[in-house]
Amino acid sequence: MRPGPSQDDVRRQNLGALLRHVHVHGATTRAELTTTLGLNRSTIGALTADLSAVGLVSEGAPKETGRAGRPSLVVRPESARVYAYAYSVEVDRLRAARIGLGGAVLDRRDLDRPRGLLAAEAAPLLAGAVKEMQQLVPADAICVGAGVAVCGMVRRDDGLVRLGPTTGWVDEPIGAALADELGIDVPVTVGNVADVAAFAEHARGVAAGCDNVLYLYGDVGVGAGIIAGGRRLTGHGGYGGEVGHMKVVRDGRPCECGSRGCWETEIGELGILRAAGRSDARGRDALLGVFDAADRGDARAQTAVRQAGDWLGFGVANLVNVFNPEMVIFGGTMRDLYLAAAAQIRSRLNSNALGACLEHVRLRTPKLGTDAPLIGAAELAFERLLADPLDVG
Ligand SMILES: [Zn+2]
Repeated sequence: MRPGPSQDDVRRQNLGALLRHVHVHGATTRAELTTTLGLNRSTIGALTADLSAVGLVSEGAPKETGRAGRPSLVVRPESARVYAYAYSVEVDRLRAARIGLGGAVLDRRDLDRPRGLLAAEAAPLLAGAVKEMQQLVPADAICVGAGVAVCGMVRRDDGLVRLGPTTGWVDEPIGAALADELGIDVPVTVGNVADVAAFAEHARGVAAGCDNVLYLYGDVGVGAGIIAGGRRLTGHGGYGGEVGHMKVVRDGRPCECGSRGCWETEIGELGILRAAGRSDARGRDALLGVFDAADRGDARAQTAVRQAGDWLGFGVANLVNVFNPEMVIFGGTMRDLYLAAAAQIRSRLNSNALGACLEHVRLRTPKLGTDAPLIGAAELAFERLLADPLDVG
């Protein structure tokens, strides 16, 4: 018979649960923690004292409630003092931020990214942004780690970017390059941008409380972050969710991944620009130009948007049938396409998805907007702290 968890294991688990609660929900009274975590008052008091001793939370009187009697103390995350570095490597942007426990963005830098910039070239730019931010960090602050969101296929074991079809990355060690450049002794965790953005929306965004979520993220290509049964579904090696490379047209148009007929050749940036007769254009502004032209009555742009919306609904119908999500979130360029072609998407879903799979699906745009990858990257770093608070704190 396997031995049960030791007292130490139980304590670590309870510390993690308490810290996770205030990290996700913010300031919480001891009385609420007692109820929510199902622990008695003296245990909550002891756990809070432990977390407070290492500087992860603070305790204080609540704001005036007007009610009689001794108020319950409020436990707050030390958001200004405990933080993670977060990076987002997108096709046209590099973002770096310092994000406090509790999810507040304390400082940030956004940089343009020339297409084709490799990891070894991107890392010094991101590290430079971090060095600027480091000058403003209080002396007693604690950095618990760093997280990176990358548009590409990321090997779970070591964060190697195996393939970024739209960035030209093949076997790029962005995590190691950043760790070298930063010169700070904290782990760097790397994740796929759609997966990481889904993680953020699930933790503290529009999908909070939803256990089955499909987050479609478009940059130039398209990927999905999938939450199934409350857990991130990333596959054996970490490469799951590459829905943009579902084959939807046999021997169709060539895709940047090297194959043909992939879904993103119809709904990705290049597909929409091609259909709108703007094959020479590139970038988000060019794409927004198509949506704008469609809005103003340009017939070719309207056709391109309608077709892409139809293809988007077609693919989502398949994914709804496979994963039976309760919410589908459209992020990045998929947000723009969803807002421009909602009628086509709904119509396709209604005619192609199975009624039972579709009946409770809510279609949504992200609550965290374009910050979802950054916030999710920080969540990757905070996971380690939440698993064993006293080890990191
Ligand atoms: Zn492909």
